[in-house]
Amino acid sequence: MRRLAHFQLCFLAAFMTTSPPSPEFCLKEAKTQPTLGDKISDLRRCIQDFPRDPGGRAVRDQLVSLLIASNRYEEALQTYRFQISLRKPSGEPDLKLLELLLKTGRFTDVDRLTAGAPRNGHDFLFDERLVEYRVQALLAQGHYGNARQALDQWLGIHEREGLNSSRFMPDVRNLQQLRRSLFTLERTQGATGKALFTASVSDSLNHWSRRRQVPVVFFKLVPTDSASQLIGSSIHTDQTDAAFQKRVEDMNRGFEYLSGGAFSLTFKGSHSLFVKAQDLDLSSAYTNLLASRVHVHTIPPLYRRAGKAFVILVDYRAQSDEEAAYMGDGLIHIAANKLHTLTLMHEILHGLGATHQEWSALASEGYQFDPEDRGLMTFEKGELRYLGLEEKNRVLLDWPRVVAQHLNSETAELSTLNLRPTYALKN
Ligand SMILES: [Zn+2]
Repeated sequence: MRRLAHFQLCFLAAFMTTSPPSPEFCLKEAKTQPTLGDKISDLRRCIQDFPRDPGGRAVRDQLVSLLIASNRYEEALQTYRFQISLRKPSGEPDLKLLELLLKTGRFTDVDRLTAGAPRNGHDFLFDERLVEYRVQALLAQGHYGNARQALDQWLGIHEREGLNSSRFMPDVRNLQQLRRSLFTLERTQGATGKALFTASVSDSLNHWSRRRQVPVVFFKLVPTDSASQLIGSSIHTDQTDAAFQKRVEDMNRGFEYLSGGAFSLTFKGSHSLFVKAQDLDLSSAYTNLLASRVHVHTIPPLYRRAGKAFVILVDYRAQSDEEAAYMGDGLIHIAANKLHTLTLMHEILHGLGATHQEWSALASEGYQFDPEDRGLMTFEKGELRYLGLEEKNRVLLDWPRVVAQHLNSETAELSTLNLRPTYALKN
């Protein structure tokens, strides 16, 4: 009897250690892990343990999504390249690969892979994405003239057909606008100039996150026609240098808390730019992100400062209502009625490389995330309510872990909070 019990026990132990759990089981484990880092290492282990499992492909896809959502682009690229190597070559450029190459700074690879981009000629939207990646890779190397030529070729092929279709007309208009901006850059700065970082290119990863006294300059976008002024905004009394300086001090209070003293801003004055209502249309409703980002770089005083300081364009025109957007290279466009500490900090964090905390796609796959992991890149019903920084952004910026403070509204002033650095926990 004792022998039998011993045998049963050995059998059970052998079963537990040698019977490999299925990839499904492995994936399920990863989904419930508390931290991002643990989820990622669990998925890596799944792939290693089941290299030939047909389900391995789905696991790798999820690993790539998780790595991208965690700002770990270099690892995402490696995993994705492996994924591609298992496929039958199609001869088609792979859009996801191009996006990852751009995000990891491999601009000459993108250049090479998109060399035939304008003449791909079989799918309007695919070709549009392709030429946009090409333009971004060229701009990130400062090749304005070549970028404009890529657009010339693309428009030569698609312009007429696109304008005849109600579906594609807005896209053609955007690329026409982009071409005009590229031409302006070429005319004012030459065929080559400084590198410009646009929609898919992470420009400032870590460059500024551990620097103090990063300069910040304000530009008021003042409508030449007072009738088109944003209702409720008062250009001369609301936004004086003293008011801007106070806003910077309030942000610094928050950044001191978040970065443990590693990062701060310093106010370097304000200027006015007089613009017509219809000029410099930065509203996302009319232009795509790439076109509007390149457009804003064409304004000489902004071009000069891009990449050297945070430049905040405070828009007093009615059309800018409630808008706020990061435009690459430290340039931020914000409506005068959105100029709150938390909103500005959010846009500055974009400039440091931080990205939105957005898990809905992975959550729909069954991934569970820490509900306490919130911060300035997390929206709650469309508003920013947490002074804190998410794990993925904290790791990226190399800032300490701090307790996220829930605020009553996005318009909260941080001077009213007791932000003691002792709240900081060990990372
Ligand atoms: Zn944002």
